[in-house]
Formats: sequence, C-alpha cells, structure tokens
Amino acid sequence: MYIDLGFLEELQRKLGAQGDFAQAYILAHEVGHHVQNLLGTLDKVHSMNGKVSEEEYNELMVRLELQADFLAGVWAHHAQRMKNILESGDIEEAMNAAGAVGDDRIQMKMQGYVVPDSFAHGTSKQRMRWFRKGFETGYIRQGKTFEARNL
Ligand SMILES: [Zn+2]
Repeated sequence: MYIDLGFLEELQRKLGAQGDFAQAYILAHEVGHHVQNLLGTLDKVHSMNGKVSEEEYNELMVRLELQADFLAGVWAHHAQRMKNILESGDIEEAMNAAGAVGDDRIQMKMQGYVVPDSFAHGTSKQRMRWFRKGFETGYIRQGKTFEARNL
C-alpha cells in the first residue's frame, strides 16, 4: 500500500478535506487498490496501456478509481456494523473528501478550467456517488464500475 503523505497534507490544507474520517476514507481507498491488485483488476487495466487511445485509457483509470472509492465505502459499512466506529459527521467528512479529490474540482482549482478527457479519477459527484453506494450496500458485487453505463 502506498500513501502519499504530501498529498494527504495538501488535501487537508488546500483542498479542505478535514477530519479524521477524511483520512480514513483516503486510507480505505488505497486499501481498495490493494484489493483490486489481489483480484487482478489492476493488472488488467494496466495491460491496456498503449493498446487503447489515451482517452479510453483515462476512462478505464476513472472506473478503477471509482471502484476503489466504492470499496472504501464497503469498508466503512462493515467497520460500522462490526465495531460501531462512526461518530456524527464522519460520513459527511468522507463525502466531503471524496468531493475534494474529484478531477473537475482539482483542475478548476489548480488551472482554472476543466479537461474532461484528461480525468483519471472521476468527478467530485462520481466519487461521492460510488463511495456512498459502497457504504449503503456494503456489498462488493455492487461495485461494477467497469460495466456501469452511467458513472
Ligand atoms: Zn486511487
């Protein structure tokens, strides 16, 4: 698992993703990538690099990232059921963080305009939606971001 501590700090200071559960969401998202690694999904997506257009590859990356957000939500669902970890406002903190790391919001903030074809993580709305879906269902099979027509 790789945690970019510089990005974590920037996220809290510049992008406004405050709160302990914002951090929990980021960590759970990275664990989600580890799950994708174990399932072979990461390899599958990475093997498409160079075989499809850059736009198509970016879209695969978006689907991969949204699935990691979904898996973070699944974790939150089960952590709550097993250990009752959530305090009031925690889910809002995670949703706020998911929104803060949307490509559209980051690009607008950093460069003042948005280039949808270059998105590699999904929009704020999509990231919040998939986290919420994981949290509400807690069911790993609902995370079909590669099959979904509407992300
Ligand atoms: Zn990611």
